[in-house]
Parts: sequence; C-alpha cells; structure tokens
Amino acid sequence: MIEVPAFLDLHTHTRYPDKSFFPAKDIEKSALNGGYSDILAMPNSEIIIDDIEALNYAREIDSSLNLNVHRVGALSKHLSGKELVDFKSFIQNGITIFSDDGKSLIEDTLADEAFKIVAELGGAIFQHCEKSCFSNPGDIAPPSNSSELILIPDSEEFEILKRDLELVEKYNTRYHAQHLSSKKSVELIEQAKNKQLPVTAEVTPHHLLINNENLDITNGKYKMYPPIRSEEDRQSLISGLKTGIIDTIATDHAPHPEVTKNIKFKEAARGVVGLESAFPVLYSSNIFTLDELLIFLVDNPREILNNLGYEINEPFHNQWIEGVELFNTKSEYKNSAFENFEVNIKKVDLHV
Ligand SMILES: [Zn+2]
Repeated sequence: MIEVPAFLDLHTHTRYPDKSFFPAKDIEKSALNGGYSDILAMPNSEIIIDDIEALNYAREIDSSLNLNVHRVGALSKHLSGKELVDFKSFIQNGITIFSDDGKSLIEDTLADEAFKIVAELGGAIFQHCEKSCFSNPGDIAPPSNSSELILIPDSEEFEILKRDLELVEKYNTRYHAQHLSSKKSVELIEQAKNKQLPVTAEVTPHHLLINNENLDITNGKYKMYPPIRSEEDRQSLISGLKTGIIDTIATDHAPHPEVTKNIKFKEAARGVVGLESAFPVLYSSNIFTLDELLIFLVDNPREILNNLGYEINEPFHNQWIEGVELFNTKSEYKNSAFENFEVNIKKVDLHV
C-alpha cells in the first residue's frame, strides 16, 4: 500500500453551472475517486463564467461539494473572442486566472489588449491554443487514411502559442499553455523558459500515454482537442515533463453522455473524462517515478495556483493498493480514453 497527498487538477470542465442541472456530485465523485482534493474549473460551462453573477452562482454550487473548486474567469464575453470581460471585477473577487478554454482568443488586437490588461492587474492567461476554433474545427491529427475526417495539423496549436509568447515577451504577462500536444509546442515553451518568461505548461495523461498509430476511429471515444499525435510528439511531451519544460499533468476532464461519444467519430463530441484514471494509468505506465508524479500532480499545480493568489489547503492523504486489474470509471460519465486499460494500482475507498 502507498499513501500519497491528494492531487490538484488545473484543468477540469465541471459542466455546471447550467440550466439542465448537470449532476455536480458526479464531478466530486470523479475527483475523490481519482485522489483529487482540488480542481481548477474552466469557465466554459453552459452558464459561462464571464461576469460576477455567474461566478457567484457557480461558487454556490461549488460550496455544496466535498471538493475544493477553484474558479477561472473567461477572457471574453460569451467566449466569443469579440469583447473582453471586466478583468478588474474578477480580480476584486479573487479570480486571477482567465481562459476561454474550448476556444482561443484569436483576434490579434484583442489578444494584445488582454495580455496588456491582465499583466497590469497581476493576473494570468491560461490559453487553449487552436487557431481554427471558430471556423473549421478538425477531427484528428495527421496522418489519416480517412477521406471524411478533417486533419488538425500541429500548426493549429503552434501558431497561437507562438503569437502568445510574443505577447508575453512584450507585456511580461503570466501565461500558462494548456494541454500541449506537439513537439513543436514543447520547443516553443523551452525557448520561452530559456528567456526567463513567466510561462508554465501542462500536458494530459492521454497525450502522454497514447499515440495515433492505429488509433481506433470506429467511434468517437478518442475524439478530443488537441488530438492525440505521433509517437515522436508523445516522447517529446514525456521528456518535456522530465526536464522541467512542462510543469504539470492536468486531466482536461470533460464529461459527455454516451450518446454523443459512442457514435461516428466525425459527429462525436470532443473530450474525455480523466480525473479517476489519471493517477492509476500514469503510475502503471512506469514512465515516471512516484516522486516525479507527485511533482506533476501535487507540488507544481499547487505552486502555480498559490503564486496566483489562490488559497490552497494542505492536502489530505489517500491510500492506494497495488494489484493488477482493468480500469473502469465509477462515476456516471464514462467517456474515458482508458476504459479497460490494465492498471496495477487502485484507490482504497472508491465511491461506486
Ligand atoms: Zn482546451
């Protein structure tokens, strides 16, 4: 048996607050089953966190959970990329992180303004880098034999990331690159860190453990943004973590009902759940030592939030027992990339 501190996820889609009453308790269940005590909630819920009224509504639900939910404000109103939110009001309410996750802030002039204001206010921008997010969202990374699926080249991520890092250099804005997927992006972050720019980055468990060789596209199970890329990209993401270029492993936990995932790849929703599976699959992969995993799942994400003024409680400890089994999600939304993966560790006290 091993005992480790609870993890902090810098990238969770809580889905609530919404008008259709997504079961918030399911997020709590996923997080606790995965060994997480804290999550950072992305603002692209059905009710978008782009003003203080929505923030307060979300916080009310958050406070009913046995989980520390930290909040992010949207960068733009309605995530439309057209009009910036009132950053000052968010900062006055304890929110220093801004993201349009699910979308990028594409328009250069508006991005310039956002990076300038957020830097002046001492906040941070967490960017989902996807150049064509408003026009032509693709389906899968190249290469692909499918004539139907639209390819997502790594320039989708690279071009926004490159533009953003120039703005970071211009305004010294605190910046965090979300879910990196490619070797070229890792190289950009490395250059930024060599210049001592205030930059951090994350990678998901699925980008670390799966490549696109023989990726199953019989249904939408592996459809997500950014897409799973080549083995060369995967290796670069692993070494990026090991060398400190990438700071943290974040799940991009995104619950979807089966009817929108277990359908044709082309039509499927983007995203996978990840809170429950992250530690078991990473630990079982033997790619990282336990000490390394604790840096990526506990120490670094806590430090990132702490440095941005978020109050983080001391983590409680979870117990895990060793033993080979097939991983199965226990919470309601089971759109995991790791369903039936062989794992060799399991949390004690799972909520089933
Ligand atoms: Zn994203």
